[in-house]
Amino acid sequence: MLITGAGSGIGKGLAELAAGNGWQLIVTDLDRLAAEEAARAIVAEEGTAEAFELDVTSSDSIRLVMEAMAGRRVDVLINNAGLQYVANLEDFPQDRWDLLVRIMLNGACMMTRAVLPGMKRHGFGRIVNIGSIHSLVASPFKSAYVSAKHGLLGFSKVVALETAQTDITINTICPSYVRTPLVDKQIANQAKEHGISEDEVIREIMLQPMPKGSFISIEELYGIVAFLVSDCARNITGQAITVDGGWTIR
Ligand code: NAD
Repeated sequence: MLITGAGSGIGKGLAELAAGNGWQLIVTDLDRLAAEEAARAIVAEEGTAEAFELDVTSSDSIRLVMEAMAGRRVDVLINNAGLQYVANLEDFPQDRWDLLVRIMLNGACMMTRAVLPGMKRHGFGRIVNIGSIHSLVASPFKSAYVSAKHGLLGFSKVVALETAQTDITINTICPSYVRTPLVDKQIANQAKEHGISEDEVIREIMLQPMPKGSFISIEELYGIVAFLVSDCARNITGQAITVDGGWTIR
């Protein structure tokens, strides 16, 4: 199982849980030290993990990692690397906008292209994208993130059709807020901006659209990954799996 952006947050948590369930992990991240640290923690718990520095926006970086893996199988790819930036469109620096899309849409595309030939050769593959509730609905000030995450769904539907004759599936998990460094940064920024406490940001802004009123846990996401990579899910492809505490039912 290869996970991108696995040096932090959801990717790191999924790597630990997958390793605990017997998967051999390829832990990759733009941040080499974070990837190495995550892999070390897995090995310390008797799991199997190898770390690679991998920038999903760079075809050279992806090629180097694929070469370094020397033809080893990647049965499962988790496209997880991501970044957030919050600004209204007129103030959104264009290079930031481009970067978000390059990481979360182009990056998922390039990683998928890199692993598909091997998956086809071995007659098996599972690709799981970490999308977002923002693959399905919008929030103001997140134009790049929402565009990239919506695009990821369209991309996955096309790949699902192109791989339909094989035992390869591609699906997108769409969670609402999960408490990770990416979200902690937003909580701190919003508290400053609105002049309220971080607890108030959590209660009145973040969890407000979620009738269930709580953050999604990484364990819940791993449960979905485990199902999607199993044989039971061989006919589930091109789907958005929504885990949003009820955000989209209103
Ligand atoms: P995080 O900031 O904790 O981790 C993101 C990781 O991606 C970091 O380790 C970072 O180094 C890595 N990364 C950034 N740019 C990269 C690049 N170019 N190449 C490779 N790695 C790169 O964030 P997180 O909350 O764990 O987010 C992980 C994924 O989950 C993202 O795609 C995010 O959009 C998605 N997501 C998060 C939430 C949430 O509430 N936290 C909700 C829905 C979806």
